[in-house]
Amino acid sequence: MHVAAGIHPHEAGKVTANWDSELASIVNRPDVLAVGEMGLDYHYDFSDRPSQLRVFRRQLELAVQARKPIVIHCREAHADVMSELRAITGLKGVVFHCFTGTSREAAEILEAGYWLSLTGVVTFKKSNELREVARMLPADRIMLETDSPYLSPEPVRSVRPNEPAHLVHTARRIANERGMNFEELATLSSENTRRYFMLPTS
Ligand SMILES: [Zn+2]
Repeated sequence: MHVAAGIHPHEAGKVTANWDSELASIVNRPDVLAVGEMGLDYHYDFSDRPSQLRVFRRQLELAVQARKPIVIHCREAHADVMSELRAITGLKGVVFHCFTGTSREAAEILEAGYWLSLTGVVTFKKSNELREVARMLPADRIMLETDSPYLSPEPVRSVRPNEPAHLVHTARRIANERGMNFEELATLSSENTRRYFMLPTS
């Protein structure tokens, strides 16, 4: 098991004085593959926006220094997240985790060279636009995740907590949308994920 470490925007208002040096020492550990989740959440606004922005910016700098990719949490804050990302150079990799935005936002993310990862939301009845995103993803940037304990996919949507075993349903649906077979999609997403997090590929 590998981990990512970061300050979620929900917690940005609660950081203590030396949070950034503490985080820096954690993310430098070899078993910490990425910095995150970090980002902006304007849907819940659990932390005030100036704090969210300040903590996000600092983590971007830490990720550049640590030479580790980042995991973005973005909720109704696409424009602001994009402009922060564009203002910094030297990021190893950017993935918008649990992407649930529009196809236009997805296109912007992909064009900037960033990644987005899809969850069980792609299997939900109302997620037509997200399925469009699943079809337009370049093969070498398909990444899947659970967002466990949340967002169990159909047909196990009511099962809580969500768990990695349920990822097959998400993968099957995306394979279907793209007209690929399941094994092919599974291999691609595994290889992509390993490459993104700089893990050895088998
Ligand atoms: Zn998140």
